[in-house]
Amino acid sequence: MLNLSIQSLSSHLEKKTFSSVELTQFYLERIKQYNPSLNAFISIDEAKSLSMAANADELITKGQKSALTGIPVAQKDIFCSQGWPTTCGSKMLKNFIAPYDAMVIEKFNEVGAVNIGKTNMDEFAMGSSNETSYFGPVKNPWDLDLVPGGSSGGSASAIAARLAPAATGTDTGGSIRQPASLCGFTGLKPTYGLVSRYGMIAFASSLDQAGPMAISAEDCALLMNVMSGHDKRDSTSIQRDKENYASKLNSPIKGLKIGIPREFFGEGLDSSVHNVIDSAIDEYKKLGAEIIEISLPNNHLAIPVYYVIAPAEASSNLSRYDGVRYGYRTKEYDDLMDMYFKTRQEGFGEEVKRRILIGTYVLSAGYYDAYYLKAQKIRRLISEDFTSAFKKCDVIMGPSAPSVAFNAGEKKEDPLAMYMQDIYTISTNLAGLPAMSIPAGFVSNLPVGLQLIGNHFSEAKLLNIAHSFQQNTDWHLESAKGFE
Ligand code: GLN
Repeated sequence: MLNLSIQSLSSHLEKKTFSSVELTQFYLERIKQYNPSLNAFISIDEAKSLSMAANADELITKGQKSALTGIPVAQKDIFCSQGWPTTCGSKMLKNFIAPYDAMVIEKFNEVGAVNIGKTNMDEFAMGSSNETSYFGPVKNPWDLDLVPGGSSGGSASAIAARLAPAATGTDTGGSIRQPASLCGFTGLKPTYGLVSRYGMIAFASSLDQAGPMAISAEDCALLMNVMSGHDKRDSTSIQRDKENYASKLNSPIKGLKIGIPREFFGEGLDSSVHNVIDSAIDEYKKLGAEIIEISLPNNHLAIPVYYVIAPAEASSNLSRYDGVRYGYRTKEYDDLMDMYFKTRQEGFGEEVKRRILIGTYVLSAGYYDAYYLKAQKIRRLISEDFTSAFKKCDVIMGPSAPSVAFNAGEKKEDPLAMYMQDIYTISTNLAGLPAMSIPAGFVSNLPVGLQLIGNHFSEAKLLNIAHSFQQNTDWHLESAKGFE
């Protein structure tokens, strides 16, 4: 049951082996049993989930069913969901009940998917370990002493512990792929603009992108079919014909040109992770792929550039939390200024404040050219590296993260060490490219993710490449002990 694909769950629903209400109850029971030790969910609303499931059962009976009808989906608590608390992992939004649905939520509702709960996350999606959440850290089901990765750590933990068959995440610098790597499942960060950001609480608007998290590439394809699409309420949403991401999963990959960037295998990469990635690439060779060495010469600048651009955008986006319009407001204050200061001082956590300070600094008149403008220029160079690389290869492969999951607390006091977690993921966000992480093996019983990076709009191809691997390996079906 726990490893069933969305497609088989869906056909069971159709054949009425079980109903969506029963399936939802099954997962709600698992959440009740395991969430106290994992802290993967911030809010659960049994009555709401079960009523959505009952509606789905009606649709199924009426023959109005599509692939996701009646399937429970865990939603990252960054997506506004009408009538649900939507906290973004922050004290600032602790009591915020969203008055409307994000486009992603709207799309899942339209097809009759069941919202099984809102998942924990780093505060305002800033973090790589889920330790910055106001609602407490999330545990990695593979080892409860370890972090699940971040910022989509709650969704990651939920998928790895099989508390939901599918989940959503967002990826601004790696927040879908790094947790997918550390928790051993499949995650896709789509091309920038393919999934609407409407109602998705903003962190760094030129980088934020929502995507699917699930056991397999096949499941991610079905989720993408629902999530993607143009939305006029998001000015950066892309107008293009909707694709069926599940239709090309089985295309042959013989002759595929895989680019291996030399910069992804240097200092900083754990040697045992390196070995797992090498074996995964060997598997692709067996499937008929050709390996080409490539270079992404500016990759080492991705982290410094990101930590100028992302905080700059965050400092502007987060200025809306002022205690006036919505969210937290300090209890006692003298005047308006005092209210602003105290509200923001008490409402934001340390990492968020750090980013706001950096962002405000790099945007200030005296430093704008030296930092922000320069970072934008390097962003272009990073993007051009990929343009040149894709002249030589169809897909780029490498590790998703430099190491397996690390101990809780280990990097918490050292922001720079934490930021290095995204050394292989951030450049694709800066370039707006799609990328995935798929389970590729283990290092001492901990999962390792292989990263696949494609050219713009190559999601269907990436899912096809990932699916071929998953047809020939079982890494994605391994599940954490104690949660089987
Ligand atoms: N870890 C990165 C950060 O802290 C990326 C987070 C994300 O992708 N949301 O900003």
